[in-house]
Amino acid sequence: MITVRVPAKVNVQLGVGGLRADGFHDLANVFFAVGLFDEVTATPGEGVTLSCTGPDAASVPLDDSNLAARAARLLAAHHGLADPGVHLHIAKAIPVAGGMAGGSADGAAALVACDALWGLATPIGTLLELAAELGSDVPFALLGGVALGRGRGEILDALPVAGTFHWVFAVADGGLSTPAVFRECDRLREEAGTGSSEADVPTPDADPALLAALASGDPVALAAALTNDLQAAALSLRPSLADTLHAGTEAGAIGALVSGSGPTCAFLAKDAESAEAIAAALRTSGTCRTAHATHGPVPGAEVSAPRP
Ligand code: ATP
Repeated sequence: MITVRVPAKVNVQLGVGGLRADGFHDLANVFFAVGLFDEVTATPGEGVTLSCTGPDAASVPLDDSNLAARAARLLAAHHGLADPGVHLHIAKAIPVAGGMAGGSADGAAALVACDALWGLATPIGTLLELAAELGSDVPFALLGGVALGRGRGEILDALPVAGTFHWVFAVADGGLSTPAVFRECDRLREEAGTGSSEADVPTPDADPALLAALASGDPVALAAALTNDLQAAALSLRPSLADTLHAGTEAGAIGALVSGSGPTCAFLAKDAESAEAIAAALRTSGTCRTAHATHGPVPGAEVSAPRP
């Protein structure tokens, strides 16, 4: 039995370029891995089967569309295993459709867990290539830490970070569909008259002030540099998120933004104590389902030591 722990991500910068002819957007995406974890446990089985527990388990598909199942099959196919056998259990703590790449995290965890269970010793470079085939957020869940993603997000460069940052995540009731949020971003750009195509929108690039804040470990500078080009679209589809952002800021957050495509809201705190206080205030604010205080960056998917 192999258990792999894998973190959620928040995008501390999400720059969205114009709509490309292939339907994707060029992104300048600074991924930051935080201490909110799913655990994927692989045990020997017949075929590829799945189970899931956790508060959002009912929204997780248990068929072949699950990224963990797809990852197991992709790894098996890469190694020419005709009849892969594994049962994958997902202990889910990352909100589903929450803008924290939980499905991608499970895909990355399943790659690592099946690789260990089947004794394949696949090189990390190959695992990263397989991860990119599964989805643009999957490679980062393997890597963890902080990284700049370009292209659709799948071309990754690890970034230097000093120290630990303290975060709070406010989890909403219900998710938001990532493709729907990108479509709303395009629609808002058209409505504003700026246009939404590649020719209209400059190609985004990493913000030097953000990179400097990460490298120096300065939470106030990072808070000032947080940006998310999808935030207006998430707020347009879910206006009540403005109340959540306001509640966290009132409770002392030094920075606030929607995480990725939302609806989870992310808050930067000045220290661990302040993060606990902000989470407690959000839990009773009536503007979210629950809130978690945590920290980062943390490592990517890794095999956990067996429990005694
Ligand atoms: P991202 O931040 O990468 O856009 P997200 O965090 O908003 O993603 P996910 O939790 O990854 O969203 O799930 C999006 C959809 O993917 C779900 O609604 C579900 O139908 C599907 N899905 C496939 N595999 C999984 C999985 N292992 N866990 C959760 N959802 C999954």
